Amino acid sequence: MNSMPKTQETVLEIDLNALKHNFQYLKSKISKDTKFLAVVKAYAYGSEATEIANYLQDLQVDYFAVAYTSEGVALRDAGITKPILVLHPQPVNYKILIARCLEPSLYNFTSLNSFLETALEEKQQNYPIHIKFNTGLNRLGFDEVDIEAIYNKLKVSSSVKVKSIFSHLAASEDLNEKEFTLNQIKAFQSISKKFIETVGYKPMRHLCNTSGILNYPEAHLDMVRSGIGLYGFGNSEIENKHFTPIATLKSVISQIHTIEKGETVGYNRAFKSDSLIKTATIPIGHADGIGRQYGNGKGFVTIHGKPAYIVGNVCMDMIMVNVTDIDCQEGDEVIVFGKKPNASEFAERANTISYEILTAISQRIKRLLIK
Ligand SMILES: *Cc1c(COP(=O)(O)O)cnc(C)c1O
Repeated sequence: MNSMPKTQETVLEIDLNALKHNFQYLKSKISKDTKFLAVVKAYAYGSEATEIANYLQDLQVDYFAVAYTSEGVALRDAGITKPILVLHPQPVNYKILIARCLEPSLYNFTSLNSFLETALEEKQQNYPIHIKFNTGLNRLGFDEVDIEAIYNKLKVSSSVKVKSIFSHLAASEDLNEKEFTLNQIKAFQSISKKFIETVGYKPMRHLCNTSGILNYPEAHLDMVRSGIGLYGFGNSEIENKHFTPIATLKSVISQIHTIEKGETVGYNRAFKSDSLIKTATIPIGHADGIGRQYGNGKGFVTIHGKPAYIVGNVCMDMIMVNVTDIDCQEGDEVIVFGKKPNASEFAERANTISYEILTAISQRIKRLLIK
């Protein structure tokens, strides 16, 4: 599979075959009647939103979601015609959102009232909206007790129509929190029942993110929303085996230095050598997403299959790594993360998670699609 020419600069390779594999694995977990929404916010988790979305659109995904209106606009500009749910739009962008046929999540009376006003001004009829309920994450969402008041707003206006109601799980990947998650599912079922009885029609209902899909099949309902799974992570050692990371972050050795005992490396002279060592300088730094928390021996890159730990502080555009025991030369390939170690294992070294390192990879790094 890796017939890629050797890289000559820092690149993020995106493997569309891996994306297809992950999509098909997730699809195999849901029933034919359950729709699949692909979450492509934050540049498709740091990969390449428009290419990913176009590819998934060809694979007949049902829906897309982004966080912000501008992300939805970029997808429309790139020719995405499937419905796009905007999970966290701000009222200042509602006009643009309507102009580009994006569908808002409305999560409180401020956002609902404001959207109703804009939809009326823009002379909309039955504009699709999505009502979000809070079932325990305590981030965004109406409460069950708000349903009557939501209905009172909706029934006097024909400018919008509720296309779905949804909620979000707080700890679907953590089986120690199973009881909490089951309570969220129960709460959402109660909300759904009451909502449908109150408004008199049946919007789609959805609740599960990737780990919800894998761990709570009883909660798939009418649609599931997957992000991290598409990009190759199942949030557990066992599930990760079924997924293939789509992104590989690669770089090259720019220069090799011999550091004598007593010399220092990098800013603030943070590393002081107590023996003769060899370092390699790599063109990737904290401006590229490799935060300073990976410095001083925490994080490592892989060169010829061996770990090379970061020496001293991470610079803006560079890291220096210890290659004393690695037979390597200037121009040789460096793997930051990919299949082994994957982004989750890389992130663990700095006490964080795949989601953070993936979405942190700066836009200045070239994306290379492998089809
Ligand atoms: C980001 C997000 C998702 C995707 O979650 P994954 O764990 O990446 O599958 C789903 N739903 C909502 C509301 C989100 O914000």
